[in-house]
Amino acid sequence: MTDAGADLVILGGGSGGYAAAFRAAELGQSVILVEKDKLGGTCLHRGCIPTKALLHAAEVADSARDGEQFGVKTILEGVDIAGVNKYKDTIISRLYKGLQGLAKAHKVTLVEGTGSYVGGTTVEVDGQRYTGKNLILATGSYSKSLPGLELGGRIIASEQALSLDYIPEKVVVLGGGVIGVEFASVWASFGVDVTIVEALPRLVPNEDEFASKQLERAFRRRKIAFKTGVKFTGAKQDDNGVSVSLESGETLDADLLLVAVGRGPNTAGHGYEEAGVNMERGFVLTDDRLRTNVPNVYAVGDIVPGLQLAHRGFAQGIFVAEEIAGLNPRAIDEAGIPRVTYSHPEVASVGLTEAAAKEQYGSGVTTFTYDLAGNGKSQILKTSGAVKLVKAPDGPVVGLHLVGDRVGELIGEAQLIYNWEAFPEDVAPLIHAHPTQTEALGEAHLALAGKPLHVHS
Ligand SMILES: Cc1cc2nc3c(=O)[nH]c(=O)nc-3n(C[C@H](O)[C@H](O)[C@H](O)COP(=O)(O)OP(=O)(O)OC[C@H]3O[C@@H](n4cnc5c(N)ncnc54)[C@H](O)[C@@H]3O)c2cc1C
Repeated sequence: MTDAGADLVILGGGSGGYAAAFRAAELGQSVILVEKDKLGGTCLHRGCIPTKALLHAAEVADSARDGEQFGVKTILEGVDIAGVNKYKDTIISRLYKGLQGLAKAHKVTLVEGTGSYVGGTTVEVDGQRYTGKNLILATGSYSKSLPGLELGGRIIASEQALSLDYIPEKVVVLGGGVIGVEFASVWASFGVDVTIVEALPRLVPNEDEFASKQLERAFRRRKIAFKTGVKFTGAKQDDNGVSVSLESGETLDADLLLVAVGRGPNTAGHGYEEAGVNMERGFVLTDDRLRTNVPNVYAVGDIVPGLQLAHRGFAQGIFVAEEIAGLNPRAIDEAGIPRVTYSHPEVASVGLTEAAAKEQYGSGVTTFTYDLAGNGKSQILKTSGAVKLVKAPDGPVVGLHLVGDRVGELIGEAQLIYNWEAFPEDVAPLIHAHPTQTEALGEAHLALAGKPLHVHS
């Protein structure tokens, strides 16, 4: 057995792992990054990027189908899935190449192979041990299923849904969270008959209730069927299709069942628990400095309980690299991490829901909802939706919730408002270009500051 060392060893080269590697290298550390598959992890190869490419292709299909609404004569001739996949894969390979170039430029030593944690700050890959002054665990997550529901054949997870070489006629989507809703949106735009089944009472159940209502209304208009508050009881498949049974006694027949019931931490079999790392339900427990209970061992990304988002992984990776370098970065406020569901329409939020704010601040919480019907650019785009603000009693804006096409792009401003703890009076005088959708944020703050402009009193 041979040993190699570096200032920092990282297990897993996804969003969390590679962000830590790049920042640590910038800060003068030598870095060994162990990756068993491809640098970039889930987000680049099987997550954010491919799904957003599909969603963009879906938007193009909708535009072609709906051209007439804008006086433009277009016909959607069809969707060539091979062409769509080629477009998606070209983006991934270009970004992958860029990322490999960045790793090289940062002089990060990439070790290809499956690593196991063996205790202390050491991981082992194919009989070779790598020890760092510090170690970061960043092994990411996997698509979960439900007890008794085995993935395979016509029962697929997001990984298989991303590489389908045909467009199904009918799909049941199990799970009305972000991933389920995004795939439902893509397929509906491609002409697929989609039904979402969600056990909780509403779609996107982690969002403010307002957002769920808006999205459900829009999906109804798009003829995307959904059954909420109903539990799945089983699925059977044969050569002709899959049959999905619900607790209500109903059976749904489809070509495919997409299982989108959340992501579990990828921590089993990597030696974490065996080497004494504190875990809970498979997640690695850390303090707010992202330290595990083992000295000099940190964890970042989807294996740490909380939001499973790429930009959270990036932020945590950068945080740990700076913490190790003694820069004493500010702890990450989980509520300040922006969240976007890129369906048609989009759902975006940052900060607290109204319910969470009331729990924290009591009944003095105030809210204001600005309908996109009053926003010129949204009318031009023919999108409906709204912006909802949640304000602490005598305090700042603590929650911003947006629904509508393209509102994901407004989350940049929304997250500044939340993270800088702005009061409505701070935002009201800021000028928003006309006609843009950002004006909806401006208008909502004007109204909460007591000087509404394009609002009926
Ligand atoms: C369909 C889908 C859509 C998504 N869309 C978005 C989105 O739009 N926006 C967003 O912010 N997030 C999105 N996400 C979530 C995002 O992809 C994850 O939050 C993010 O990738 C987590 O980063 P990570 O570094 O923790 O893990 P990962 O990206 O999963 O990386 C972990 C890496 O570790 C490697 N690894 C694991 N075990 C070992 C081992 N033993 N040895 C060596 N290497 C190992 C893996 O190969 C992998 O490359 C999406 C996820 C999915 C599935």
